[in-house]
This record gives sequence, structure tokens and C-alpha cells, in this order.
Amino acid sequence: MPLAGPYRPFLRGLHWTYPRPPVASQTPFANHSHRVVLDAPPSVGQAGSPRTAGFIVTRDAGLFMRSFGGEESIFEDMDRLNPNTQTYQPESLPERESELDQLHSALRPATMGSTPLNAFVFGQPGQGKTVGIRLKTAQLQDFADEKGLGLHVVHVRCKGMDKSYHVMTHLVKALREKRFGPGEELPSGHQKKTLLSMIIDELEAIGGTVIVILDEIDAIGADDYILYELPRAEPDDVRLSIIGITNDLQFREGLDSDVRSSLGEDEIEFAPYDANQLRDILARRAAGALRDTDTGDEAQPFATLDSAVLTDEVIPLASAFAAQDSGDAREAIKLLFRACRFADDDGESTVTEEHVREAHEYLERAAVERGIQSLPLQRGLALLTVTHATITGNKVSETRDLHDLYQTFCDNIDANAISERRFRDKLNDLADSGILSKDTSGRGQGLGQTNRYELEVKVETVLDNLTDDSRIGDVVEEILRPRMD
Ligand code: ADP
Ligand code: MG
Repeated sequence: MPLAGPYRPFLRGLHWTYPRPPVASQTPFANHSHRVVLDAPPSVGQAGSPRTAGFIVTRDAGLFMRSFGGEESIFEDMDRLNPNTQTYQPESLPERESELDQLHSALRPATMGSTPLNAFVFGQPGQGKTVGIRLKTAQLQDFADEKGLGLHVVHVRCKGMDKSYHVMTHLVKALREKRFGPGEELPSGHQKKTLLSMIIDELEAIGGTVIVILDEIDAIGADDYILYELPRAEPDDVRLSIIGITNDLQFREGLDSDVRSSLGEDEIEFAPYDANQLRDILARRAAGALRDTDTGDEAQPFATLDSAVLTDEVIPLASAFAAQDSGDAREAIKLLFRACRFADDDGESTVTEEHVREAHEYLERAAVERGIQSLPLQRGLALLTVTHATITGNKVSETRDLHDLYQTFCDNIDANAISERRFRDKLNDLADSGILSKDTSGRGQGLGQTNRYELEVKVETVLDNLTDDSRIGDVVEEILRPRMD
């Protein structure tokens, strides 16, 4: 039975890495920039000629380089289609009206001299949580400034902080920067308890109403000290509200019930966008970003979109891809942005369905490469066993044979080998992320099930991206490469 990994549909046909041939172009210099792929054999008879996510090399002699300026572009304001929240912040999120109304209700006490409520905001990535909370708190800040209410919003992005300790040091820094401006150092060498009292001191020094946003707080995992203590801290003369945001739904389930009830006075869910909402989001971002592209009615941006640049299928296809993956607006915007850039780089004046398909393949491939680059040792070795089998002509291999091979690898680099059962879990993880495919068949008569694994990416893609760990590098150089000739 085929597994439903996130890249499954895409990876089926993924055995190319060849650059598009230079296109006949309206711009005089367009052909002088060549994308060169380092590892790719020509793929004969492949429909279309997709982009590569691998190396892009530009001939560097001045003569061959395109010059800047004087080129026509389909873009009017490129930032508007940039998915990076630092580059562009939407000025409204009509698709999140009801979620932002709930937040409004939690924060409104601040406008009446009372303490705003704590709130817990959750939903998958790319659902407008971060921008939504920023928009709402900025609106509240404007109101408070106008009325002369002392209100301060502190935003801590907790991504990558795997301990309450780290979050607390960043919170101290952020609170100090509220008072003294940017450039404060992270405190170091303190106990958690000391940090907590430093936080309380800073809150008291600021005074008034303080809203602390802990974004992507799921990073701290089970170490929930800060979430337990902060809502219980009672700084003098401060009306404190904490907004926790998480991308990981399980994190909310796993929270201690005390934590959950104190932090989640209000719980606000950002459910995944559906394809229609994604169409509207893309239409609104495309209008203004692209030349001759406008929406007639802001309440129905997609239905009233008029564009000389986008062909009719572009937005529906990009939305369908994103909706099928996870309803992630960031992915949808990335996809449309990449498709538009492909068209623009080729000097074309319209973006077509083909550009969207190319962009989709390109982004998925880049994601798989990043996934391979970040594999931990055991999963990396598991991937190498299947790669080795492929190189030596055994396209499809059973767990037991792969585990034997794995033990040889471990002997070679002096690593402790894990059991066959745990090894199989590693192979299954790789199948879940679309790097391998798995085929399960029963042997019948109580003999149990056999799993067979096959590489879903090219051998070169594995070898080129799986090099961070030097022990893996040793296996590649000593065992796999010699077999390739
Ligand atoms: P989350 O915090 O839920 O992961 P973000 O708030 O960072 O998601 O949003 C991801 C990207 O999608 C950002 O570039 C954001 O501007 C954009 N985005 C999300 N929702 C909308 C929307 N309703 N309209 C326009 N852009 C949106
Ligand atoms: Mg976010």
C-alpha cells in the first residue's frame, strides 16, 4: 500500500534535474545567464524541462553577465508577494475575521483599565497566526497611544528555544529593550528562579498594561516552567496578559492542566485555510504585486480579479496545490511568487499553469534536499543502506538485508548498531517524509509482513546532500562511491 508522505504525489515523477534550455526571449541579454546543474545526466524524453533546486552557476565573465536595469518586469511591487513576514505585512486578514474578533474580545479589557485575558492561539503553520496577532495588537497599541493609556506589547519568537530557560532570557532582553531601546544583551549564568524575578522586576519597571506574546512556544516541549510560572507571577501595578501561540496541536493537548487553564483563559483556533480562501488570499497579494492586476471588489478578490499577467488557471492551481498539502498560506504565496519569478526571469510577460507546476516541483525538491541535509546519524545511515542497494542494482530491498548492510556500515565507522526493529522505524520515518517509498506485502500463513523500500530520489541527491556528519561522509567515500564506477 502506498504511504501518504507529504511529497508522495510529486516524487513519483522526480528523476530529473536538468535545467531548462535557454528560452527564446524578448530581452536581449536573457540567454547569457546559464543555469548549470552539476550532477545531472540529461534526461531524455522527459516532458517539459523542469528547474533544478541544485546549484545555480552564472558565467562570471563580465561580458556574459546580464546587466541590471532596462529589463521589463511583470512585477510592480515584488515585496507584496514575498512570503517573508519581515518584508511584507498584510494590512488586513478578512479570512480571519472571526478569530481576530475572539482576540479582540480577550484584549478589550485593556481599553477599559482592566486586565486583558490570557489567550492560547493554536493552528498549523502558515495560518496567519503571527500576522493576525501582530495586526490586532498593533491596532490596540494605536488606540492606547491615542488615548494615552500605558500599554506595551512584547513579542518573543521562541522558535529554536528548547528550554523555558532560553525563552526567559529572551523575554528579559525584550522587556529591557522596551525600556532602553535595541541592543540589550541576553542575560546569562542565572538560575531559572532568578530569571523569573528579573522578568517580574522588568514588568514592574515598565508598568501599566503589558501584553507578552510567546510565539511558537511549542519549541520548549515538555519544559513548561515559564508557562506555569508567568501566569502566576503577580507583578505590582502591572496588568499582565500572556498570549501563547503554537503551531503544534499536540503541544496544547500535552500541557499540564493547570497550565492550560491559566494560560488558556481563551483558546483561539486557526483552522487550515481551504482552497477558496487561499484563492482570495493569493488574489489580494497578486493585486498590487503584479503589473495590470487588480481586484474589482475587495470582498471577493478572486472572483473579481482582473489580470493581464496571470492566466486563468494560475491562482486556482497554486491554491489547489497548497490546499492539498496543508492549507498553508505561506506555501501558497511561496508557490505563486516562485512561479511569477520563473516567468519574469525568462522575460515572459504572462505566468502560466506550467510555471506553477515547475515552481511546485522546484519547491518540493528543495524541501526534500533540506530534509536530507538535516537527517540525524541513524536515519542518515538507514538512507545510505537503501542508496547502496540501489547503486549495486537491488532497486527494492527488504528490511533484513538492509539491516545487515547497516551493520557493516556501523562496523566501518565504529558506531553502535541499533536493533532491526528500531532500524525499521528509521526506514519508515524516511518513507513518511517521501525520501523512500515503502511497499508492504504479507507472506501469508502467519509468516508476517515484509517491508520493501525503494529510493524515491536520485542517488546523487542523497550523496550530495547527506554530507554534514563526517561519519556518514566516511561511509559514502569508502563504501558507496567506489561502487558507483
Ligand atoms: P503562522 O504564524 O500561522 O504560521 P503567518 O502569520 O506567519 O502564519 O502567515 C504566513 C504567511 O502567510 C505570511 O506571509 C502572511 O503574510 C501570509 N498570510 C497568512 N494569512 C493571510 C491572509 N489571510 N491574507 C494574506 N496573507 C496571509
Ligand atoms: Mg507564526
